[in-house]
Amino acid sequence: MAIYKAPRGTHDIYGRIALGLEKLDEYARTVFKKHNFKEIKTPMFEDAALFTRSIGEATDIVEKEMYLFQDKKGRNLALRPEGTASLVRAYIEHRLDMEEPVGKFFYCGDMFRYERPQAGRYRQFLQMGAEYLGNPNPNADVEIILLAKEILSKLNITDVVIHINSLGCDKCRPVFRQKLVEYFSSIQDLCDDCKRRLEKNPLRLLDCKIDSRKFQNVPAMQQCLCQECNEHFNKVQQLLKTVDCSYVIDDKLVRGLDYYTRTVFEVRSSAVGSHDAICAGGRYDNLVKELGGQQIPSVGFALGSERVLLAAEKTNFFDNIKTNDIVFVAVADEFLFDKAFAFANDLLINKNNICSKLNLPEKITVEGPLYNKSLKAQFKLADKIGAKKVVILGNDELVKNQVVVKDMQTQQQELISL
Ligand code: ATP
Ligand code: MG
Repeated sequence: MAIYKAPRGTHDIYGRIALGLEKLDEYARTVFKKHNFKEIKTPMFEDAALFTRSIGEATDIVEKEMYLFQDKKGRNLALRPEGTASLVRAYIEHRLDMEEPVGKFFYCGDMFRYERPQAGRYRQFLQMGAEYLGNPNPNADVEIILLAKEILSKLNITDVVIHINSLGCDKCRPVFRQKLVEYFSSIQDLCDDCKRRLEKNPLRLLDCKIDSRKFQNVPAMQQCLCQECNEHFNKVQQLLKTVDCSYVIDDKLVRGLDYYTRTVFEVRSSAVGSHDAICAGGRYDNLVKELGGQQIPSVGFALGSERVLLAAEKTNFFDNIKTNDIVFVAVADEFLFDKAFAFANDLLINKNNICSKLNLPEKITVEGPLYNKSLKAQFKLADKIGAKKVVILGNDELVKNQVVVKDMQTQQQELISL
């Protein structure tokens, strides 16, 4: 019986899920690099005010979900709940806008949110995200959407629905806000959160997961968009059509972070549950300035790695993860152990092309030798770990500089001179 358990909402990653995450990471990196996105690693904790300021005070993340703490010097810090704020902070701090006309960055790492744990919802979870800074044009929005889609399609997750909406800009959003306040004020028995947010942040009411009854004939942002925002949104849709990327317009999509402007999107998969997105993002034209930088219109997305793997359970992704063939080094006599140990090392570094002499591929995983076990027990073990071949070192063979290689599938043995 274990005395300790992982804290509520966290999970240990091992076995096939660890392999799946490694593969997802590899695929995502390939796609990011192909599109010329470069990696940024930021700290797992930051000044808490960075998140309050960027994500917004009247959001679930800031109101309820942040892991806040003070360090020994009394600094107010927070474990990062998302990646964009940190990345933009780093971008401004290191003047990365001076280096390139547009900044394209990606990140991978753990995020922390104090949420009610359930399938695909953890308190520590992994996100991968991309941020495209400095391109105000709709093609950047579409490239970001396509990037996410491309990563998912590498895992054969293609049954996705892309929801898009526009949240307008500083010019037209206040009109929408006012309409929402008027609309929701006339609705009885709003939930407590909604009542509180009605004045501060009425857009959040569209995101309420408690009560969807109140959404009959709710005003839509699209009817309030100014001409520029309208043109931008139309162009995004036109480009999506040009590249044959299907989407649905979703009036209720507002996202849980306040920094978004214009385009927002979510990628949903029926494999994960109809409400939960596996990937989400949008444009944030004012965030860099808001955090002390220049006016640098930007757009990005983040995907939840655990949720992506949940969706991948419904595809052949896990079956197709290739691992190296395992070659097991067995030793017939205990006194040959040291020789067998050195032999296993030769295999690992492919000394003098030993792999090809033994008809083994160059990329192999080597296991053994294991001390204190009979040859029979060693074979049993080799079988259990799925070894493809067993190389047996015996005294009679070694004096002639030979080894026996057994194919575990065909059970055939071959005597090979080294
Ligand atoms: P949700 O509506 O499901 O709470 P969100 O809008 O809060 O999601 P984002 O902040 O947009 O999520 O994060 C982007 C992605 O990160 C989500 O689409 C999801 O895949 C993943 N994600 C968010 N919160 C969690 C969590 N607590 N556990 C696991 N994955 C998460
Ligand atoms: Mg959330």
